[in-house]
Amino acid sequence: MNRGKILSKLPSVDELLKDEQILNLLYKVPRNVVVKEIRNNIEKYRKKILNMEEHLLEDFKIDIKEIINSIVTSSNEFTQMSLKEVINGTGTVLHTNLGRSILSDDIKNQIWSVASGYSTLEIDVSSGKRGSRYSHVTEILKFITGAEDALVVNNNAAAVMLVLGTMAKDKEVVVSRGELVEIGGAFRVPDVMEQSGASLVDIGTTNKTHLWDYEAAISEDTAAFLKVHTSNYKILGFTEDVSINELVKLGNENNIPVIEDLGSGVLIDLQKYGLTHEPTVQESVNAGADIVTFSGDKLLGGPQAGIIVGKKSYIDKMKKNPLTRAFRIDKLTMAALEATLRIYLNEENAINIIPTLKMLTEPYESIKQKSEVLYNKIAEENLNLNIDIKKDYSEVGGGSLPLEKLPTYTITLKSKDISSSQLEKKLRKYKTPIFTRVQDDNVIIDLRTVKEEQYKTIVQALIDVMK
Ligand SMILES: *Cc1c(COP(=O)(O)O)cnc(C)c1O
Repeated sequence: MNRGKILSKLPSVDELLKDEQILNLLYKVPRNVVVKEIRNNIEKYRKKILNMEEHLLEDFKIDIKEIINSIVTSSNEFTQMSLKEVINGTGTVLHTNLGRSILSDDIKNQIWSVASGYSTLEIDVSSGKRGSRYSHVTEILKFITGAEDALVVNNNAAAVMLVLGTMAKDKEVVVSRGELVEIGGAFRVPDVMEQSGASLVDIGTTNKTHLWDYEAAISEDTAAFLKVHTSNYKILGFTEDVSINELVKLGNENNIPVIEDLGSGVLIDLQKYGLTHEPTVQESVNAGADIVTFSGDKLLGGPQAGIIVGKKSYIDKMKKNPLTRAFRIDKLTMAALEATLRIYLNEENAINIIPTLKMLTEPYESIKQKSEVLYNKIAEENLNLNIDIKKDYSEVGGGSLPLEKLPTYTITLKSKDISSSQLEKKLRKYKTPIFTRVQDDNVIIDLRTVKEEQYKTIVQALIDVMK
């Protein structure tokens, strides 16, 4: 048959709307959505015919069933939430693509009561006058970090931009070449600097920067020294950098403020809990950095936010910068951040309640026990799978502590019917997507990042995908 003739046989929207399956679909899915999906799918099919090679056209028949099934699937999908919960079986605690830090159940009431009702967001309750949305976290951030003042914006990238745009616009900022970091998602220190209107003076070499490099770079136009924590990589071997203490001393002698972009924003010395030492915000403030910036949703374990702490005179100027309004955080974020920070008033609570810290510090013996529980639940189902428990390593992720290997236990699965990459894909496409790793031809679930209440879903998913 020729192409034109086949195309003329494509069903019309009206015809399809009379189909029984589609009529049933209309009980669940709004008509305008179904009509849109009918149009899209007819169009998709038309393109398929138009692009088909000549010799395939001869015996070609339009498959109405295929079109209808595809309409049903895409209509149903369109009514479901696309942003939804998944199970993180990768063991990567700060998984950027899966939402980085996760929040504790303990703070959900605080967040929801602010979200679903009117709140004290920008009102001073005692005077009844307009207040500042930042006031809810300033005192607590000052208390925890020891800084004079604090401000919060949408994320740390915005924080760095605001800081540089306020303190160094049309001026020079001196940075070590070893610290010209690229963070995922197109955050590059030189680019952010350019956007902020500050000009970069890069000094030293990739592996070595000395104090005299900073000294030699000082000019009339120097607005600040910027130290960037190389949070997502390490330069090893023949290296040297200038500590924040030394840099602050040089800054003070020359009346040049020191800004430190810490990235991760740890508020607790994680070395006490067996992890590698990561410079804390308090250390940086104590050393005398004028301004310190960090993320809310990396090692701090809160919502996405960029936190700026430091000298009041600089922060006052930032508050007047129109960028602060553009980077303003929402009340949901503020509620989540305040609630998370309040947990930090007691360090032990923070380690036990804030999921990021809890997962990072969970001993592998405890993960082993959890693996045994899940192992038994899966084994009970007698699926056509080989199951095992193996020692392995989890990662911190989120561009934090890149070399850290956290000893863990994993469940390894090997289907007797399908390949491991197929099993991985089926689990990922499950209605509650389950993200795993494929390693040595096994599907691996690392229980460090899995909640106990998710075991049931994992078992059910395995039953469903192994059918
Ligand atoms: C992660 C990171 C940023 C970006 O922070 P976001 O909160 O993701 O915007 C900036 N600087 C450093 C050093 C970082 O590690």
